[in-house]
Parts: sequence; structure tokens; C-alpha cells
Amino acid sequence: MKLSIIVPMYDEQESLDLFFNEIYRVLNQLDKYSYEIICVDDGSKDLTFSLLKNYAAENKDIKIISFSRNFGKEKAMRAGLEACVGDAAIIADVDLQDPLEIILEFVKKWEEGYENVYGVRSDRQSDAWFKRFSANCFYKSVNKISDSPIYQNTGDFRLIDRKVIDAIKEIKDRRPFMKYIYNWSGYKSVGVNYARQKRAAGKTKFNYWKLWNFALDGITASSTLPLRIWTYFGFCIAFCSFLYGGYIVAKTVIQGIDMPGYASTFTVVLFFGGVQLICLGVIGEYIGRILEETRRRPEYIVRESVNF
Ligand code: UDP
Ligand code: MG
Repeated sequence: MKLSIIVPMYDEQESLDLFFNEIYRVLNQLDKYSYEIICVDDGSKDLTFSLLKNYAAENKDIKIISFSRNFGKEKAMRAGLEACVGDAAIIADVDLQDPLEIILEFVKKWEEGYENVYGVRSDRQSDAWFKRFSANCFYKSVNKISDSPIYQNTGDFRLIDRKVIDAIKEIKDRRPFMKYIYNWSGYKSVGVNYARQKRAAGKTKFNYWKLWNFALDGITASSTLPLRIWTYFGFCIAFCSFLYGGYIVAKTVIQGIDMPGYASTFTVVLFFGGVQLICLGVIGEYIGRILEETRRRPEYIVRESVNF
């Protein structure tokens, strides 16, 4: 049996030594399995790729896929999953925020028959409070509207069985939201708790703007409710305006005509202008996704692969 470790990396020259030390320490405890470590270099501009090549020259279990530019972590994970040959794949970050020790527990659960073993960040004290807060809001709202759950406090750190890998390979979203896709595919799932650590070296690659766009991708990938909700909103407004119209007619009949009402009219016009723009923006989000799908561009471009 073979394990494939998939590690997306983007400008991670500081983390590599620490990562390889730790992953070999863990893999040595799993001596009944053979393994491959697939490093996906997501268009790094620093020395990540050349350092990786040194490692790969000494050790044939280390395989490298190097992208022609930065395509993002989701695409990097996909590339790893498409290239891996193991009976199970483990996806881990290179920065050791997800303690690699937990892989031992993942494998134990896999041996018990679970096919999708995901890590749950039960302790996120190492994340800034605003990140925790915004992540919390995201999971709460997306899970209300999504057609299959995205588990709270779950990242990409997980083990998936070959069956899940093959199922995921069939899902050809141009803008994949992997956390959703893993669960969408079904299969027997279980969570393993762990405490998220501070970054071992280097800096985070996700700023808040990137995270916001990532959240939008998560919502549009997993639900069409934002498109449909406007119908109901329109119905409510129509109903209210019907009542209000009746009120005005009655008032005119009883009290006669009066002219004031400029401020309220103006406010209502502005409000509905805003609502219509939001509504157009939502439709635009989805049309943008449709456009991307119809272009059928490759998801990512590999410049070089090593040891495959
Ligand atoms: N990463 C990547 N491509 C990107 C951004 C990040 O491959 O465009 C990798 C990064 O090298 C790391 C993992 O994804 O291994 C998680 O990124 P990071 O630690 O910056 O995110 P955070 O843990 O802060 O959410
Ligand atoms: Mg990190």
C-alpha cells in the first residue's frame, strides 16, 4: 500500500527544511507503507523550486510539479491529486501549521475503513481573532445554503482514499472549491481534532482580500440560493407596496391630497437602486463562473515535473 503526500507550496523556501525533517520523522513511523511526496510548486518566485530539486535529486520519493505561474492553492491540490498514484492521499501545508503527527491518526482511521478523514481545528488560538471570527461567519452562512456541508473549522489537511481521489478527478470545475468538493463526493467521513499551530517559518499567503474572494468562490460553488433569493425578496416588496398603495388611497379619501413626501420617495428610490445593483452583481458572479467554464481553459500549466 502506498501513501501520497501532497504539499502545495508558494514561496516557501524558509519552510522546506523543517517540513522535510518532520514528514520523514512521521513517515518512518508508518513503515508498512511506501510513499511519495508530491510537492506542487505553485509558481514560486523565490528559491523553493531549486531547493526542491536538490531534495528530489537525493530522494526519488520526492516528486515535483512546478507551475508556470501562481495558480492558487486549490489548483495546486488538484494537480497533486491528478498526479498521485497512492492508495490514499494526504494533503498537508508546508508551514507545519497542521501538525504532521496527526497523519498517524488519519492513517489509523483509514485502516478502520473511513474514506475521507478530515482534520478539525478544534483549537485555533494561533489564528488572529478576526480570521477566526470571519471564518466562523463564513461556515455558518455557507452551511445554511450549501447543498452538502463544508464542515466548520476544517481546512484542506486530510486523508482521502483512492475511491475519493478518483471521484474528485471527475469533477471538472474551473474554479474548484476543494473543501466543498471533498464532502460533495460523499463516502464515509470522520473528523480528527487537532490544535492549529503557528506558522513554523515564512509568512501567510492569504490576505483578507484573497480570503474574501475565496469565500465568494465557496458560496457560488456550493449554492445557487443567492440567485433565487431575489425572487422572494421581490415578492415581499411587491406585497408591501400593495399594502402601502391601499393605505395611501384610504388616506387620500379620508384626509384629501397632500404633497409632502419628497424625502421618503427619494430614500425608497435609492434603496431599490442599491438592491438592483446588488442583484445584478450576484448574477454577474455566476455569469462569470459560467464564462470560465465555457472557455475550457486548462486549469493550470505545468512548466516542469521531476521524478515522475
Ligand atoms: N499556497 C499555495 N498557493 C497559493 C497560496 C498558498 O500553494 O497561492 C500554499 C502555501 O505555500 C501553504 C498552503 O498553501 O503550503 C497554505 O498557505 P498559507 O499557510 O499561506 O495559508 P494560511 O495557513 O495562512 O491560511
Ligand atoms: Mg499556513
